[in-house]
Amino acid sequence: MEFPTRILIGRGVLARLGDFVEEGGTKKKAVVAAGTRVHEKVSEVVSSSLNGSVEWVKVTAADIQNVERVMTAARSASCIIGLGGGKSVDVGKLAAFKRDLPFFSVPTSASHDGISSPFASIKGLDRPYSVKAKPPVGILADVRVISSAPRRLLSSGCGDLVSKMTAVKDWQLAHEVQGEYYGSYAASLALMSAAVVLEGSKKIGEFGMDSVRDIVEALISAGVAAGIAGSSRPCSGAEHLFSHYLDLLAPGVGLHGEKCGVGTIMMSKLHGLDWEGVRSALEHVKAPTTASAMDLKEEQVVEALVKASSIRPERYTILSRNKLSREKALRLAKSTGVI
Ligand SMILES: [Zn+2]
Repeated sequence: MEFPTRILIGRGVLARLGDFVEEGGTKKKAVVAAGTRVHEKVSEVVSSSLNGSVEWVKVTAADIQNVERVMTAARSASCIIGLGGGKSVDVGKLAAFKRDLPFFSVPTSASHDGISSPFASIKGLDRPYSVKAKPPVGILADVRVISSAPRRLLSSGCGDLVSKMTAVKDWQLAHEVQGEYYGSYAASLALMSAAVVLEGSKKIGEFGMDSVRDIVEALISAGVAAGIAGSSRPCSGAEHLFSHYLDLLAPGVGLHGEKCGVGTIMMSKLHGLDWEGVRSALEHVKAPTTASAMDLKEEQVVEALVKASSIRPERYTILSRNKLSREKALRLAKSTGVI
C-alpha cells in the first residue's frame, strides 16, 4: 500500500506551501506544473511561499509531451508540484514518478479523485484510461481557492464521487465471478466517499465552504482507497469505461466526473441499485443527468454503452455480464431519462 504522508486542507493554506514542501524533506528547487490561468491567479503567493526557488512549467494538455517538458525542467529539482485542476496534477504526477522525485498535489479545483490517487490520465499512451504512477507524498488543498473555481468543477467532482457506488459493485462482481482480489476495507472507504454526496446532496448542493471541504476530503479519501487496493478498482467500474469511451467518441465534450455521474445512473439500474436516488443526488448538486446537458448526442451515449467494455476487456464489470445490444442500450438510456 502506498499513501500520501501529509495532507493539509483549509482556507488560505496555499500561502503555507513552502513550509509544507520543506517539511516533506525537500529544500532545493521545486518545479511547479500549472495551467496558464492558475499561474496567473496564484503564482505570486506560491512563488513567495517557496522563496523564489521555483521553476514554472506551463501545462497545456495532459499528454506525454507535457510530461516530458516537466521531466526536463525537473533534472536538478528536489520535487515536483502539480498545481491546478486535473491536467497539471496528472502531468506532474507522472513526471515525478518517471524522475523518481517526491510529488506534491495542490488542487485548485475538486473535479475528480486524481488529486490523491496513484493514477494519472495522460493522452498519447497506448490506452485511454489511467496509468499507474505513485500517490502524491503530500496534498495541500486550499478550500478558498477551490471554492472560487467554476461551480461546474465541484459538481463534476460529485459525479466522480457517486461513481464509487457502481465501481465497488463491479469489483464485488469480478470477485464473485472471476475470483479477482477484493479488499473490503478499500471498498468501504470508497463507498463512504460516495455516501458523502448520495446522503448529503441537498446540503452539498449549497456549495458552502463546509460542502467544498467535504467534497475535497471525500475525493482525497477515494484516491487513498485506490492506493490501499493497489488498483483503481474501488474507484472505477463500468461507469468509468463508459466515460472513457465517450472521451474517444467526443473528445473534450463533458467533464470526466459529469460523464461518470451519468454512467452511474445507468449502471446502477443494471446492478438493481437505487438509480433514481443517484439521479436526484446529481440533480441536487447541479451535475448533469442527461446526454443533452453534456452536449452529447443520443447516438454517442448508445454507442458508448455498447462498446465501453471493449476498451478494457480484462476489467470485468456489469457490462461484461449483461452484454448490451444497441436495442438494450437504447432502452436503458431512455428508461433512466439519460436520452
Ligand atoms: Zn474518476
